[in-house]
Amino acid sequence: MGLPRTIAVDGPAGSGKSSVSFAVAQRLGYLFVDTGAFYRAITLLALRQGIDPADAERVAALARAAEINLSGDLREDGRQYTLLVNGEDITWQIHSPEVDAHVSVVAANPGVRQAMLDAQRALAARGGVIMAGRDIGTVVLPDADLKIYIDATLEQRAERRYRQRLLAGEEADLATIYEGLRRRDMTDSQRDVAPLLRAPDAVYLDTTSLSLDEAIEAAYQIVLAWARQHQHLDEDKGTAP
Ligand code: C5P
Repeated sequence: MGLPRTIAVDGPAGSGKSSVSFAVAQRLGYLFVDTGAFYRAITLLALRQGIDPADAERVAALARAAEINLSGDLREDGRQYTLLVNGEDITWQIHSPEVDAHVSVVAANPGVRQAMLDAQRALAARGGVIMAGRDIGTVVLPDADLKIYIDATLEQRAERRYRQRLLAGEEADLATIYEGLRRRDMTDSQRDVAPLLRAPDAVYLDTTSLSLDEAIEAAYQIVLAWARQHQHLDEDKGTAP
């Protein structure tokens, strides 16, 4: 049964798209590409170098110069991928609250997006890739074989982030997380370049009332349904083996 070569997964922060995409990638033997990690990496570099994340020129120059390498190396420490920037492993550093707070401004920078686009498309060109983000089905891979849009209510997404942080032994405040997500949604949806948008041909998956396992299974079934449908199309055309 032929599987989609490229799967684009979009959705808002906390919708579960990374966890779901990673798990489906594991089942299919695909590479999971988290494009949020690219914007997070540039944000971390800017913060470390004392560059104002809102300084469009300097941050874009930083993005053009950065050598970003994302791989499926899992290192058995719970990571979903390994992210190297200029040779340094920053996989865990990019998820700090400080990066969370500034990443949307960096991601709204057209110079940064242009610099990331080529790197993301190059990863997808090899096939066997599930790429997750905000603009994958609309801008990065408009010709992806399969597109899924994963959604959940803001309340539910905030609750999930809150529980994740507590489980990780971190301090967390539900109201602060809710407000942070609400703002990030707003910036991501209203920016001029590549806003968060549901592609018209994306399959919609609402995970509000689903557990993580149920959401993974639902996404996996969407992939299988695609494969069955395409097998029928091939048979109808007489091109099936
Ligand atoms: O998915 P994650 O929450 O890690 O993404 C971090 C930020 O990166 C998002 O809030 C968004 O501003 C940006 N992003 C983006 N386009 C993508 C992926 C992420 O603008 N394809």
